Amino acid sequence: MYTIEWQKRGLPHVHILIWLKDSSHVHRVYDFISAEILNPQEDPDLFFIVKKQMVHGTCGSINPRSPCMKDGICTKRYPRLFLKETQTGQDGYPLYRRRSSQDGGFTANINCRGSEVSLDNTWIVPYCPLLTKIFNAHINVEYCNSVKSIKYVCKYVNKGSDMAVFELASGENDLNDIRQYQMGRYISSNEAVWIILNFPIHE
Ligand SMILES: [Zn+2]
Repeated sequence: MYTIEWQKRGLPHVHILIWLKDSSHVHRVYDFISAEILNPQEDPDLFFIVKKQMVHGTCGSINPRSPCMKDGICTKRYPRLFLKETQTGQDGYPLYRRRSSQDGGFTANINCRGSEVSLDNTWIVPYCPLLTKIFNAHINVEYCNSVKSIKYVCKYVNKGSDMAVFELASGENDLNDIRQYQMGRYISSNEAVWIILNFPIHE
């Protein structure tokens, strides 16, 4: 199941739910999902893709003016905590293994606003190594075993586009429904083209 979502800027993104034929036990989660920086010696290509595409922010004390920051805290809950092993979370999302340097985790140097900073596994957005390597793009992959995740994906189908209309009328009865609809509908040019060309928005 998928839905296409716009954020009034840039390219669309897609939320996809995939049902696996054989439901994997949680200890197998990190066979296909990782939240860690790789050994740069082992797979330098993937190391650079992860560093470029799958690092959150940066935000927090390194970059307090990041858009994800609200009242001094990252709304996406980064940096996450170090974790020696993957655990199942309370809400159906597992907590992924994020090893510290002491436990054998790797770090990566990235450029943040002109200066180089060293980041550890607390900053990595969970990803599937195979998909990341194929597409060289930001693809967040999470394991979910709760109906809540279906609700989350469906939300984007049903919420519609943002609207805002107000008018100071002269008192004359010149209400034009079509004009009002066009005025109030706020979508990006990308989304408009998508709709004109009749591309699917969910399936
Ligand atoms: Zn953040």
